[in-house]
Amino acid sequence: MSELKELKGAVERAVEEQRERLFGISRYLYENPELGSEEFKAYGLLTGELERQGFEVEGELYGIPTAFCATHRGRGKGPRVAVLAEYDALPGVGHGCGHNLIAASAVGAGIAASKAMGDLAGEVLVVGTPAEEGHGPSAGSKVIMADKGFWDGVDAAIMLHPSTSWGVGNKSLGIWTVKMEFKGQTSHAAASPQEGVNALNAATLAYVATHMLRQEARRDANLVIHGIISEGGLASNIIPDRAVCDFGVRSSDEGYLEEMVEKVARCAEGAALAMGAKVELTKRKLYSSKKLNLPLIEVLWRNYAEQGVPMKDWNESIQGMPMASTDFGDVSQRTPAAGSHIKIAEPGTPGHSRQLAEASMTEEGLEAMIVGTKALAMTLVELLTEPERLKEAREYFDSH
Ligand SMILES: [Zn+2]
Ligand SMILES: [Zn+2]
Repeated sequence: MSELKELKGAVERAVEEQRERLFGISRYLYENPELGSEEFKAYGLLTGELERQGFEVEGELYGIPTAFCATHRGRGKGPRVAVLAEYDALPGVGHGCGHNLIAASAVGAGIAASKAMGDLAGEVLVVGTPAEEGHGPSAGSKVIMADKGFWDGVDAAIMLHPSTSWGVGNKSLGIWTVKMEFKGQTSHAAASPQEGVNALNAATLAYVATHMLRQEARRDANLVIHGIISEGGLASNIIPDRAVCDFGVRSSDEGYLEEMVEKVARCAEGAALAMGAKVELTKRKLYSSKKLNLPLIEVLWRNYAEQGVPMKDWNESIQGMPMASTDFGDVSQRTPAAGSHIKIAEPGTPGHSRQLAEASMTEEGLEAMIVGTKALAMTLVELLTEPERLKEAREYFDSH
């Protein structure tokens, strides 16, 4: 038997040994859902578990209260491979995005890889990345870590996400927000309208103009524009002197996204000019789109497929239309990264729902998490055993 095959066998056994413990982590998080930036119970549980299993835990990473990096060092210097945990819940629907399973799988994969790696050189990291759903001061913590250079010191990053199918290599959309604050002049709406400047009219014009951009959008760049008028006056008999639009602009193409953000901003400026109002614009980049790393995707995919689960061909996944945005995109812009998704519910089950939260605790959901944990752990040890895999991933990263 080859060394790698033996190691993968050891990984599987190590995951099986933790089975009940991982179910316990999933259940505890499910029963104690915490919003982003407030995941203190989850943080305590996960770091405690990793410490007990011999990991060295650096807590409150970069001052983010619920972020951590847990490290297991092998024999000697070598590559650093990371598995990412998320553990924030959603208001009203608890773990409606299934991050309880992401946390359990990351901890389980890290521990299994650390036990199986034996004499191998290098480091296995379990990185706790809070507030993926964007809540609170730690919102998009992976971006904060990216800005601090954390991912530049990692050779590969992998993770899983619960879903309604099995696959590896989905794209995601980069996202910017554009806030438009229009300022006008109040006046009596009937007696002295000529003295007023209607900020709501400027906002309405900007809202319409922004939507008109869609026709000329590049269809291959998956442009999405969504917005609301969040403030539009206080009383109908007063001409509003303040109106606010909040827009989200998304695309799978980073450069094109920036171009479109400028066009959205231009709509606001044009509308303000037309109505004689003033506008203040706040453009903010939230998450980057995912940069796919095909060599890494192939390794992770194979470690799922070898377990016999019905994986969608990764060649197909990478062609698929990206639906959402995630701060994992920012990780992928800094280092080779690959995400996977595990089937915990039937197709058609909505994301961010009670149904998905409940699916995370069914037998199907928990067993899917175990399969995913094994695939992640096998990938970690494969990358440490076969440095050429990492070299390919790095070369691909550098050339794309
Ligand atoms: Zn979500
Ligand atoms: Zn999620």
